[in-house]
Amino acid sequence: MNISEYKEQRESFLAQEKTVILGQDQVLTTDEEVVNQILLTAKMAEMNDGFDTPHNFLPAKNFLTVISDIQASEVFKIIQKMPKGAALHVHDVALTSLEWVIEELAYWPDLYMCITPQDLLLLKFFDNPDTSCAWQLVSEVRDSYPHPRSSTLSSTTGFPSSQTPDDIRIDGTLLTPDETLTVYQDTITRFVQDHPEDFLGARYIYAPMRRIDNATMNGYVDNMIDMAGKFPNLVAGFDLVGQEDKGETLINLLEPLLRLSDADIPVFYHAGETDWMGMSTDENIVDALFLNATRIGHGYALVKHPKAKELALQHNTPIEVCPVSNQVLKLVSDLRNHPAAQLVAEGFPIVISSDDPGAWGSKGLSYDFYEAFMALGGAKADLRFLKQLAINSITYSSVDENTKSQMMQRWEEKWNTFISETLSLHTNTVIHQPVNKESVGLHHQHLWSSYSNNSIISFPPSTTAKSTQRP
Ligand SMILES: [Zn+2]
Repeated sequence: MNISEYKEQRESFLAQEKTVILGQDQVLTTDEEVVNQILLTAKMAEMNDGFDTPHNFLPAKNFLTVISDIQASEVFKIIQKMPKGAALHVHDVALTSLEWVIEELAYWPDLYMCITPQDLLLLKFFDNPDTSCAWQLVSEVRDSYPHPRSSTLSSTTGFPSSQTPDDIRIDGTLLTPDETLTVYQDTITRFVQDHPEDFLGARYIYAPMRRIDNATMNGYVDNMIDMAGKFPNLVAGFDLVGQEDKGETLINLLEPLLRLSDADIPVFYHAGETDWMGMSTDENIVDALFLNATRIGHGYALVKHPKAKELALQHNTPIEVCPVSNQVLKLVSDLRNHPAAQLVAEGFPIVISSDDPGAWGSKGLSYDFYEAFMALGGAKADLRFLKQLAINSITYSSVDENTKSQMMQRWEEKWNTFISETLSLHTNTVIHQPVNKESVGLHHQHLWSSYSNNSIISFPPSTTAKSTQRP
């Protein structure tokens, strides 16, 4: 074999390998091809810089330390404007940004705070505070700090877990689960009405804490069946949350979980969110698949279980990958080492979500899409990869087929606008003076969220201290 034959075989081998990367079978239009080149130029500039100076590569560094660097990235700016579909794995306790909590919630009247001896910050609404804690009015505490620092809240905020959706009225009495779900339903309806172009809806996954016994779990199953019967459009199914290594395993809760299967309740278990291998936590993945999960939350350990991966492929069960969450919660430090990189290289169906964005200063899906694009996709993942991720988020959502096709149609319109505007922005930038980024940004500012909170939102149980039915 001479050198040119060798090189030809090598080229063809690599080209063949590239066809397997997630999204590579997407066919791009001429305009999309141009946008792809714009995107890849920005991406390769960042990747080559990281290759030369590894310390500069943002996904290799802790998200908390590089948020503003990511915001300055040209790749991120493009991704931010891209319609990303649905967020399929987001918890309501950390759904909103911390800024929103501080700027909006903290000004509500009747909101009290108290720091427990365990250094947990409790927040609760009262007409008259009870004596269970040394409650102070948040508005008064705020007034005593002329320039309140967000870190004061973020470092100590903690919400006690609850077992049912049990928000509290201002007089301290609990809402029933039905009343709480009605609050969710009404809020979602109102938000859809306020944002008819950009938001199609949200669904609720009942997700109590997993550190429980069978008797408690049987109670949850009763709740679940009751809720699914009363709120079929709102309630998507069941999940269990909380630190998996410390929680009860799915196999030990099998008897009540099989009752869910018998009742045809869709399940979306968090499973295998762990660095361990061959222990009870990563084997939860096998049970999630045996219990016919619609999707698997995290599935971080899936690549260590080839037979389970095979089964997931047979069932077409996607993995909900939350890169920033996995890094901040210390499953992985350098996101190039995230196991989902292997899944992407093989074309395994994944969706990208943000888990608890408000807990680490993230919001929406753009940051997680950026990390996925730069670290999980490698240098060869291009616009096709991002497009596939957005399409997957709709394909694997739990809404009915009719709603799914409406979502897909709306997403395609947004996508086409994104393509043409990116094209004209970059063409103008090359030919003319620098574009006024403010005016362009205004045009796109809501695109990141165009579907980012609809379809399925994976809520853990509404927690007691957080939301109160307003009078
Ligand atoms: Zn989660």
